[in-house]
Amino acid sequence: MAHEIAIFPCLADNYGVLLHDEATGATAAIDAPEAAPILAALAERGWTLSDILVTHHHKDHVQGIGALRQQYPQARVSGPATEEAKIGALDLRLGEHDRVSVGSLHGQVMTTPGHTAGHICYYFAEAGLLFAGDTLFALGCGRVFETPLPVMWVSLAKLRQLPPATMVYCGHEYTMNNGRFALGIEPDNAALHQRMQVVAALRAAGKPTVPSTMADELATNPFLRADDPGLQRAINMTGAEPAAVFAALRSAKDRA
Ligand code: ZN
Ligand code: FE
Repeated sequence: MAHEIAIFPCLADNYGVLLHDEATGATAAIDAPEAAPILAALAERGWTLSDILVTHHHKDHVQGIGALRQQYPQARVSGPATEEAKIGALDLRLGEHDRVSVGSLHGQVMTTPGHTAGHICYYFAEAGLLFAGDTLFALGCGRVFETPLPVMWVSLAKLRQLPPATMVYCGHEYTMNNGRFALGIEPDNAALHQRMQVVAALRAAGKPTVPSTMADELATNPFLRADDPGLQRAINMTGAEPAAVFAALRSAKDRA
């Protein structure tokens, strides 16, 4: 079940991600922000695109699908059934608990409404990988466009149950900006300060801060800890409903 992953910038701040199964040669693109860098990354490694796993309908995640399919007509496009009208024709229409495979690598779909109403994440349990799209970011979370704010909290609370060693791949390089906000919320979080040093060094070297681990996110990402007494105290919301705490955090970040 050996796999390889390639991660590379697309557009202004998106990531292209390829998941390659060594046993079968199958290769999936997670979303299709921009065809050219994805095609280049495939060519560089001699990989053949077999799958496109779409997380949600936003342009910056789907606009490369047409050009990728032109080059790889056999590539299968999978995505959230409820967003097919906006994404374009899907070969596999996915919902909660559906299984996906990339060659011999097996994953499952987790519905995570909030950023969009139909947003899904892909979790590959054996490989220990989460493709979180625009739901969970390194040190942050996606803007909540299509559901009430508490719905996003439920989605994030679901993701945080995954094993701490899970590698989290998200859709954008927003980590510095997210981290500055997080430090404003929790200036006394030592793990967060440490992580920000690592993040700043990576960015200074032009390297991605993605992936992170779920353990990193649990320790440092305020949006996963709306029920943490320490975080609640930091924003004067001790004892409040976690969904309300999350909503306050997300609203503050929207205004930041
Ligand atoms: Zn998006
Ligand atoms: Fe996006």
